[in-house]
Parts: sequence; structure tokens; C-alpha cells
Amino acid sequence: MKVEIITTGDEIMSGVTLDTNFYWVADKLVSLGFDLGFHTSVGDDEEAIIEAFRTAQRRAEAVIVSGGLGPTTDDLTAEAASRFFGVPLELNDEALEMMKRRFDERGYKFLEVNRKQAYVPKGSKILKNFWGTAPGFQYEGEGVVFFFLPGVPKEFKVMIEEYVVPELELRGIGRKKYKKKLIKTFGLRESEVAERLQGIERDGAEIGYRAHFPEIHLRISAYGDTENEAERLLSGLLEDIISRLGECVFSTEGETLEEIVGKLLSQKRLTLALAESCTGGLVAHRVTNVPGSSNYFERGVVSYSNKSKTEILGVPKELIESFGAVSSQVVEAMAVGVRRLANTDLSVSISGIAGPDGGTPEKPVGTVFIGISHRYKATVSRRFQFKGTREEIKLITSEVAFDLIRKFVLNDV
Ligand code: AMP
Ligand code: MG
Repeated sequence: MKVEIITTGDEIMSGVTLDTNFYWVADKLVSLGFDLGFHTSVGDDEEAIIEAFRTAQRRAEAVIVSGGLGPTTDDLTAEAASRFFGVPLELNDEALEMMKRRFDERGYKFLEVNRKQAYVPKGSKILKNFWGTAPGFQYEGEGVVFFFLPGVPKEFKVMIEEYVVPELELRGIGRKKYKKKLIKTFGLRESEVAERLQGIERDGAEIGYRAHFPEIHLRISAYGDTENEAERLLSGLLEDIISRLGECVFSTEGETLEEIVGKLLSQKRLTLALAESCTGGLVAHRVTNVPGSSNYFERGVVSYSNKSKTEILGVPKELIESFGAVSSQVVEAMAVGVRRLANTDLSVSISGIAGPDGGTPEKPVGTVFIGISHRYKATVSRRFQFKGTREEIKLITSEVAFDLIRKFVLNDV
């Protein structure tokens, strides 16, 4: 384990302030190829801070400490560092001058409590703070370099970039070339994805799972001594994943499912119309989230009532009476109706029971029919049984609709 992060402050420990310094610096360092081992948070408690330093020193090569450099009595980091390293706090004249100048420029009165911020453990290297008041400092203890930075996010970030990254690079601490990719899948549960990917791990590469309802996302990353090596490792892993997950992988460049569908429709020069009942226009909303969707999307009809299905889409009244509005017969008639009305190549229709009421033993809540109609092909439909809240059922229905279009365009036209 190479680099370790300690964020301090009662506001962090109590959940009042989000620890954005951590997630920012972690993302920054990881994408630069540094190896992060641990992240610790401690409150404004001197003993706890010292304990965190001690633990970090045992296992890291470099430690970054955020917070506790302010003028108030709860800012204890310099004091804790001085005790931990066993050296006294010493007034740093340069830091003091700089602070005084900054106060002058802004017309603030320099207060005695601010003087405290110019005291750093003897033997520290001052990290000048041109972006705020409290200077940071760097101290090396038992071969481990500690960086102490202010908690104010703006100052923390710029000082990481100005001082910490160059210093870590100079010392060659755990730096590797790093490449990453986001793979988006739909159609398998997280555990199913994991099962299919069993044994795929390889040295220098990592797979992270993230459920992003109703999709499963995989973040893959690879490290190498050169860009090429990292790239080779990453693309090998990517190929392997795609061959195991097949069509469930819909995107490897961060695109949304609706973007992928839009690209496919554009490529094949196909136009699309929608007839939505239980999704209430959600599919149309997602289609139109993609810039340029006017090239392939002609219209979407929200035909919620039976009357509208008959009036607008020409679904025979008798069909609804005999089979119910949520049926393959009706959903196929909806698809044909909207495709003719819009004169498009393709249409998709949706009718279902989103709940929480309206279910029957034959068609419980979550029953959804989706129809696809193509100008030159037989109209088809499928029945699905989803689970979840009303919103979840609407969302997963829209997702399945996109996925059906994607597969239909990929395989059938
Ligand atoms: P400090 O340097 O501990 O006095 O922190 C100054 C201010 O920076 C705090 O009052 C917080 O608002 C903010 N801050 C401190 N630590 C963090 C952190 N880890 N993430 C985000 N903001 C922080
Ligand atoms: Mg604080």
C-alpha cells in the first residue's frame, strides 16, 4: 500500500460535511496511477489524530492529511503532528509574513489567533498557501512523507496539484500508467454478472461493480509501466468481458442506452414512433434526451385511456373488451396504429400495470406487454413480469423497451 489519506474534522465525522476532499483526491490520484491503500477519517480529537498518523506511518509511503490547520481551538493537526513526530512547534517567519501580507491586502486585522497557524513542527517544509490563510507543511517521519493541507476544498485541491502530486512523482511513489473504462450492461443481475466473470481477474487490472438500477455498470482499470502496457491489459480484459456477457453489454464508452439506440437507428436510417400507456411518455422523454434525436424520432403518443387507444391509434374497441388493455393483442394493435399514423419504419408500444393497484391474479402488478412493429415484418410482442414500486416498474419497462429496440435493430433489420 502506497499512499494513504486522512481527513480530519468533527464536521466530517458527524456527517455534517460531506468528505469531498477525499473523493476528489482519491479520483485524482488513482487516475494518475497512484496506489491508494487506506482512507481514515478522524474527528477533532488529538489522541485520535495521533493514532491515525501512527497507523498510517506503519503501512504507507506517503500520507495526505486534510483539515485542522485553522486558527480555532478545534484545529489540532499541527499540535498532533508535533507530538507524534516528537519535535516542538516552531514559528515559521516566512509563513507569518505571508499571512500578514495577505491580511493587509484584504484590509483585515491580523488577529493573535492567526499567529497560531504559522507554527509548524520543527524541520517541516512549508507549503505556501497562496489561496487562503493557513499554510500547509510537509514532514518526513521514519521514511514516510506526510503532507498536511488545509481542509477548505478550494485550497486543498490546488495544493494537492501544486505540491503533493509533483512531490509524489519525484519520489516515484507507486506511480503507474493507468487506464480505465466504464462498461454498462443490462439484462443480468449483479450476481449473474459476477458469476459469468468468475476467474477473469488478472494482475494489474481491476473490476469494480456498481448497480445503477436497472443497469449494472462495471468500472475496469488497468495499470502498467507504460501507457501501452496499461492499454493492452485493459483491452484484453474488455474483450474477455464482452465475450462472457455478450449482448448484455450495451456500452463501453459511457453512452446511455438511449444514446446507443439513437446511434443504431441513425446508422440504419430507421425512424421510430412510440405508443406508451403505463410509462406515460418516459420512453419518449429518454429518446429526446439525446441531442439529434429528431433525425429518427417522429412522434410519441401517450395513449393512457382505452378511449385514446381506440381514437388515436385505431385499436378496435372489441379487442380491448375481449383481451383487456394490457394484452399482446392490444399492444400489437397499438404498435401498428402508431407506426401507420407516423409513417415510420419502426414503432414500439407499451401497455402494463404499474401498480400499486389494478393487478389481477392473471395479470398482477408489474405485468407489461411491449410490442414492436416494423414496416416489412410481422408485428411481435412480449410479456414481462416486473417487480418494484410504480416508478421502478416504469423505469425498467422503458429500459427493456430500449433494449428490445437495440436487439431488434442489431439482429433483425
Ligand atoms: P479545517 O481546515 O479543518 O478548519 O477545515 C475548514 C473547512 O473546510 C471546514 O469547515 C469544512 O467546511 C471544510 N472541510 C474540511 N475538511 C473537509 C473535507 N474532508 N471535505 C470537504 N470539506 C472539508
Ligand atoms: Mg476543522
